[in-house]
Amino acid sequence: MGHTEIIALARGVETGSLGPLKNPITIAGGGLAGLSLGIALQSRGVAVTLHEASAYPRHRVCGEFISGVGRETLANLGIADCLNDATRLQSASWSDSEGQLAEMQAPGRGISRWKLDDHLQRQFVSLGGGLVTNSRIAPASGVIWAAGRPRQPSPWLGLKCHARKLPLTHDLEVFTSPGGYRDVHVHSQVSRGTQKCLQGLIRFEFLRS
Ligand SMILES: Cc1cc2nc3c(=O)[nH]c(=O)nc-3n(C[C@H](O)[C@H](O)[C@H](O)COP(=O)(O)OP(=O)(O)OC[C@H]3O[C@@H](n4cnc5c(N)ncnc54)[C@H](O)[C@@H]3O)c2cc1C
Repeated sequence: MGHTEIIALARGVETGSLGPLKNPITIAGGGLAGLSLGIALQSRGVAVTLHEASAYPRHRVCGEFISGVGRETLANLGIADCLNDATRLQSASWSDSEGQLAEMQAPGRGISRWKLDDHLQRQFVSLGGGLVTNSRIAPASGVIWAAGRPRQPSPWLGLKCHARKLPLTHDLEVFTSPGGYRDVHVHSQVSRGTQKCLQGLIRFEFLRS
């Protein structure tokens, strides 16, 4: 699918006018982008087959801080209910080795990708979407590419873990350093308390030194 057709598709989802788009759609990648689009299309009567290279549920090395997405956008996409479990996040701070650089209000939602991707795939399937897991497909004409970052060698290493009983001053705390960055934020409430997500990017050169 070319650039022009993708813009037409996005406009059609936004305005609810997908009249000419009645042919089945194939999407590569069942992350946030692919599943959200799949749900939006299926709920507007466009048949979608989505290929995902892995299976659900699964962890992703991702900060799990979703910002800048309003209730209206989530409702238009048909995914608002998938975020019902999310924690409301409000405050953020940035620091370096010298101390705090800034703090601000940063409305967002925190939820693990384990939960969110699983909620989204269930929603997609419940709408009649065709989901093919453990299926890594190649780019081809007519396939919408939602496969995340390209697979290519990089000096960056992403790390993530979930922790309990970690004191925070803000919902999102970002620490920068010459060797990469670490950020820490509350991402979800679980029955035994508040879970926090620690994650960061580290350059291999930094790890070697
Ligand atoms: C360390 C780190 C921290 C981050 N923190 C945040 C954050 O706090 N907030 C935020 O909004 N974003 C964050 N991001 C970015 C985040 O990863 C993206 O916002 C989000 O994952 C993008 O969603 P996506 O659907 O485009 O891609 P992805 O979530 O990466 O999904 C792509 C999917 O495509 C599948 N796939 C790949 N190739 C194929 C193929 N050939 N065929 C079929 N399936 C395929 C993959 O298995 C995957 O499930 C972070 C990223 C990193 C690396």
